[in-house]
Amino acid sequence: MTTMLDKTHDPHATSWVEGTEGDTPFPIQNLPLGIFTPPGENRARGGIAIGDKVLDLVGLPGLLQGPAAEAARLADAPALNALFTSGNDLADALRLAVFDLLTDPKHEGDVAPLLHPMAGCTLHLPFAIGDYTDFYTGIHHAENVGRQFRPDNPLLPNYKYVPIGYHGRASSIRPSGDDVIRPHGQRKAPDADAPVFGPSQRLDYELEMAIWTGRGNALGAPVPITEAGRHIAGLSILNDWSARDLQAWEYQPLGPFLAKNFHSTVSPWLVTSAALTPFRTAQPSRPEGDPAPLPYLADALDQAQGAYAVIMEVHLSTAAMREASAPPFRLSRGPMTAMYWTAAQLITHHTCNGCNLQPGDLLGTGTLSGPERESFGSLLELSQGGKTPIQLPNGETRTFLLDGDEIVMTAHAEAEGRRRIGFGECRARIRG
Ligand code: MN
Repeated sequence: MTTMLDKTHDPHATSWVEGTEGDTPFPIQNLPLGIFTPPGENRARGGIAIGDKVLDLVGLPGLLQGPAAEAARLADAPALNALFTSGNDLADALRLAVFDLLTDPKHEGDVAPLLHPMAGCTLHLPFAIGDYTDFYTGIHHAENVGRQFRPDNPLLPNYKYVPIGYHGRASSIRPSGDDVIRPHGQRKAPDADAPVFGPSQRLDYELEMAIWTGRGNALGAPVPITEAGRHIAGLSILNDWSARDLQAWEYQPLGPFLAKNFHSTVSPWLVTSAALTPFRTAQPSRPEGDPAPLPYLADALDQAQGAYAVIMEVHLSTAAMREASAPPFRLSRGPMTAMYWTAAQLITHHTCNGCNLQPGDLLGTGTLSGPERESFGSLLELSQGGKTPIQLPNGETRTFLLDGDEIVMTAHAEAEGRRRIGFGECRARIRG
């Protein structure tokens, strides 16, 4: 795990780029990587968000030397996979060099022409995603959902021993902004004799974080817990759209299938492990009586700093709200420390059987709900399985999502004495 703080984390550092001082998710301390297409062009390539601009990595190698120049060349591609194939070192070198270019005014003449207004750019997925695995680390979510099915015994006996997960689908993952088409499928009401086929009536979101793998591991070569942090390229926001009625009918005995693979949305910027270094925090200690992790998942350093001080929010904007120019309504706000397992434990567990992770694989944390209702990360929980409608400020109510509804997830990392950094938006609208 990266534990080194350097000049890029200095909370007093400033950039000559306008708009980086105020309330931006992308101050000089962040420098997230992504893939974008500038306005009027058609070639997707690597970029770095700074304020409300994107720094074009094409054209940057001429201003850099050594590993940073090599990194900029590798990022001149429609995905960041090549940049992270050998680990985080090249991206870290690029971060240091770009920090110098964007802080020292003497570089403004050379670098300013490489800045594009972000609002005019098309933002893509940061990686070509080979595989997608979704975990279930949000213990409050697992308890809330489990309680709806098993009031006395919400967690199954394996939960506190095994980081539970399933293999998802990579082909239907889309960047923020792409509409979600309401899925059709089979659903069966508990009191109905037979299922019917049609559009989902219980369409939901799941608030998750995306953990991107950088360096992979060879088939048959597990990643030890002490090494696992080095395999994490960084984080984005993930919305794991879920059709609850399809899910309830199809999930036994093999788990989620068509209820989850019709569309998943991720925020476009990779907030790197280096940028997140000041925001590493202790994994919350397990409640009294919980088993300790088995030795292959136990590492003192990981327990001391393997969690992230990240706050996540979900907002809903309905068609009627937008028509009335009303602001989006906040559905929830909660901490990423709701994870029962650390990101490193997920990497180690995923590979403990020899399974090979590859650069650009996506690991979802699972829905992250806090213990209180204000921090529940899905409508399934907020509406108690559809029994208690949510009241919106304009008089509308929701149990699940209607066509025209837009979900906007945001997140930021914050810590005492540090410049807060953000993830940008994970936004999508439901279409019938
Ligand atoms: Mn999920």
